[in-house]
Amino acid sequence: MTFKSIYPYTQETIAEYPAHTKEELEKKLQQGWKAFAALKQATLEQRSEWMVKAATLLKDQVTEHATLITREMGKTLKEAKAEVLKCAATAEYYTANIGAMLQPRIIPSDAKKSYAAFEPKGIVLAIMPWNFPYWQVFRFAIPNILAGNTVVLKHASNVSGCGLAMEKVFREAGFPEGTFQALLVSSKDIEPIIGDNRIQGVTITGSTPAGMSVAQLAGKYIKKTVLELGGSDPFIVLKDANLAEAAKTAVKARMQNAGQSCIAAKRWIVDKAIADDFTQQVQSLITSLKQGDPFAADTDTGPMARPDLAEELGRQMDKSIEQGAQLLAGGEQDGCNFTPALLTGVQPGMAAFEEETFGPLATIITANDEGAAIRLANQTPFGLGASLWTKDIEKAARLATLIDSGNVFINAMVRSDARLPFGGVKLSGHGRELSLEGVHEFLNIKTVYIQ
Ligand code: NAP
Repeated sequence: MTFKSIYPYTQETIAEYPAHTKEELEKKLQQGWKAFAALKQATLEQRSEWMVKAATLLKDQVTEHATLITREMGKTLKEAKAEVLKCAATAEYYTANIGAMLQPRIIPSDAKKSYAAFEPKGIVLAIMPWNFPYWQVFRFAIPNILAGNTVVLKHASNVSGCGLAMEKVFREAGFPEGTFQALLVSSKDIEPIIGDNRIQGVTITGSTPAGMSVAQLAGKYIKKTVLELGGSDPFIVLKDANLAEAAKTAVKARMQNAGQSCIAAKRWIVDKAIADDFTQQVQSLITSLKQGDPFAADTDTGPMARPDLAEELGRQMDKSIEQGAQLLAGGEQDGCNFTPALLTGVQPGMAAFEEETFGPLATIITANDEGAAIRLANQTPFGLGASLWTKDIEKAARLATLIDSGNVFINAMVRSDARLPFGGVKLSGHGRELSLEGVHEFLNIKTVYIQ
């Protein structure tokens, strides 16, 4: 079996990678376990020194890494560069801050002294998606490796080159051999890896069906999981919002990365009092977006990552139109290219409301008032992020408590930030990445009691 990397814009095959054999996979697990012993022995200062080197390598080689990302999954080169630099900045953030996060927590009890210590456990398996092929991986790997865990990565089949390039970064940064390894393995062969005793936890970022399947296996072998799954985030615009700012941000939050983001603003829920004005503004912004060659400096949205993904988005759009929605812009599909589209008159029951739409398709849903807007926002099985627009900050803070999601951003688009915990509720998954909460997910929180 081989994994093919195909440049989405031209559909040219750019590389083929043979899958690792069982023997090769066993060697990698042995190496990962050996590296765990070495990493645990190393001081935090030493691990931090290697991590700073990894950040420097990413910055020095940003064009090379970004080009690989664009070639494998089609995002624009400028988006790919920003992604690589965000990984470097996060490595620097954690090297400066993780020491305090790993300090034992002294807890008064009836002991002379008692505390919770945070210790690494072994190898963690990361199953990752192609949409942010560096960021999704680094945001998990950086804190875990700094804390002393090692990582094996099963990357999405279309971005094997990215997985191997990240492995090279960790190797060249000086980490013990085997600290971070890319496994070329298909989903159907993942069970023996999840079940292996050296694997101490599994994190998956991907679709909800993939999360369900991996969580079942992890449950079978009693492995801790973090599930970062799909979303259908609401972007709620109340009648007292700064409309121009909301419209501009809505378009960015939906269309960046060709709409292929878990936290994209997938359902725009707009108070009916301002719906016409908002619609005019976003329609004009969307029709001015340039879709096409991801290497061209003036391209706003590149191709989608695979033709089947563009076809699926087209199906969701067509079905919603059949169900009564109106197409105001875009929606032409040719291979992986899909022109940024705008649907209005979207309602519960329509495909674009009920399903996760993973591409450049914006939807406008009108709400009678702010209570109806919140009800519509929650009327989804997902619960990843939400963006809420109003000038009344007190009201916004109150409404934020009523939204069922892992993140609420007020007068801003939802984004991940190393300083803030990130994750979802409901079918968007459980557990957190980033911030302090992300650091502790795969550590042994060991209680020590001294009498
Ligand atoms: P996907 O098809 O679910 O794949 C994600 C990863 O899971 C890939 O490595 C894939 O491998 C693997 N996989 C799929 N089925 C599996 C199974 N049964 N057992 C083991 N591994 C399995 O998702 P995608 O199309 O790459 O990414 C898009 C989805 O990810 C969207 O739903 C998006 O919302 C979600 N996402 C969530 C977050 C978050 O932070 N919550 C972030 C980004 C993306 P193969 O490629 O080999 O199938």
